[in-house]
Amino acid sequence: MYAAHMTIGGRAVPAAATFDVKNPSTGATIGTAPNASLADLDAAVAAAQAAFPAWSQKTDDELQRACLAVAEKLTAQAEDLARLITLEQGKPLNGLGSRWEMGGAQTWARYTSGLSLPMKLLQDDAQGRVELHRKPLGVVGSITPWNFPLMIAIWHVLPALRTGNTVVIKPSPHTPLATLRMVELLNEVLPAGVLNCVTGDDRAGSIGATMAAHAGIRKIVFTGSCATGQKVMQSAALSMKRLTLELGGNDAGIVLPDCDPQAIAEGLFWGSFINNGQTCAAMKRLYVHDSIHDAVCEHLVAYAKTVPMGDGMAEHNLLGPVQNRMQFDKVAALVADARKKGDVLLGGAPGDGLFFPATIIAGLKNGDALVDEEQFGPALPIVRYKDVDEAIGFANDSPNGLGGSVWSSDITHAKQVASRMECGSVWINKHGAIQPNAPFGGTKSSGFGVEFAEDGMQEYTDQQVVFS
Ligand code: NAD
Repeated sequence: MYAAHMTIGGRAVPAAATFDVKNPSTGATIGTAPNASLADLDAAVAAAQAAFPAWSQKTDDELQRACLAVAEKLTAQAEDLARLITLEQGKPLNGLGSRWEMGGAQTWARYTSGLSLPMKLLQDDAQGRVELHRKPLGVVGSITPWNFPLMIAIWHVLPALRTGNTVVIKPSPHTPLATLRMVELLNEVLPAGVLNCVTGDDRAGSIGATMAAHAGIRKIVFTGSCATGQKVMQSAALSMKRLTLELGGNDAGIVLPDCDPQAIAEGLFWGSFINNGQTCAAMKRLYVHDSIHDAVCEHLVAYAKTVPMGDGMAEHNLLGPVQNRMQFDKVAALVADARKKGDVLLGGAPGDGLFFPATIIAGLKNGDALVDEEQFGPALPIVRYKDVDEAIGFANDSPNGLGGSVWSSDITHAKQVASRMECGSVWINKHGAIQPNAPFGGTKSSGFGVEFAEDGMQEYTDQQVVFS
């Protein structure tokens, strides 16, 4: 049993109450997490405020070195943290699982450490000199989801720290332990109060909602569902907080008729089933041209049958359980509805516990719930189309606009199709491949603001223009 504590002002702080954390593979309780009171949150914000003056006054080199120390700590602790992610999140250690997640956390930490936002000279002539400076905001509140608890935490925390802000992070109550442990470890290399962690169980007096409204927090970086993102935006209005909202997606993939169905099967599968489909920018609807529809389905199903699912701690598994009961029930309901409307090619019914077999259902259309709604689970709907205009219309017929993909052997044509898709990222012959040097963010209801690269870092700063 793992009895986690919060880290506030560099100190280990227990809460008066705790809640249980379960392993989704086995149902066993693996630990307890603090159920923070609002006073605990106030203490964390106060600690971050107290640490801000010294941290924000550090030179660019000092901030860079401190962030590199964070990256090194992650590397040293990667295996232990990966195992904790698997225990509470369910994803396997291997494949695109928790070791891969920790690899991403390290890559992003290192890359972000190396970025900087130097003064930009806008004008320097006989009329005068104009300089654009970037200044840290103050205390940043980070609210994270349960699908990639540590990689997303690093996406939030590193650019905030690198630009001179201090942070209070609140992980999802479904996966609090890895974040609590990571923050404890990172406090070994960071000054007290620079990075604080609180956890709560999302019941009455939600810590997340209170953070979004908290007068001591200058910005919220939020990754989670569209519905919660809207609440965050409402709560943040009164204190005029800066916001980065990375919300839900319902990404479409469009397979053009010139594809080799066998060659794309593996990429289609992992583009959709990465982390069991519990990935914001996973491919959640697949549109396939009539002429190769049946062959694409056949090869995709054949590949899917080779992928082992089971307890994430077993080294050979590549897919784990759905993370929690609420999500499992949502997937089960969408699949039950889709069964009545389409042709189940694979899976189609819940397994034991929280295991839901990889499910592929063809014969569906826009308007069917599994196509229109974000399933956030291992169930892919396939829709047949006749011409590319129709496919683009189907793909854009969604309130979401996170990512999309086009699959074709003609890259020039694929890029033309990509340019007509309403989303923040489009991949050609792959899906969801993010990288730290390319901005990532949603359009439409999938949120606003971007993460990663210089553009992402700028979101943790205010501009100050100096005229002389
Ligand atoms: P969620 O919205 O239920 O929870 C996200 C976080 O918000 C959790 O920490 C939760 O405790 C907190 N929260 C709950 N109520 C709150 C409130 N009123 N105010 C502030 N915070 C509150 O999302 P989830 O189920 O954890 O994650 C799944 C969703 O996240 C999916 O829709 C997925 O697409 C999305 N997601 C998006 C991205 C992206 O980058 N766009 C990445 C990962 C996940």
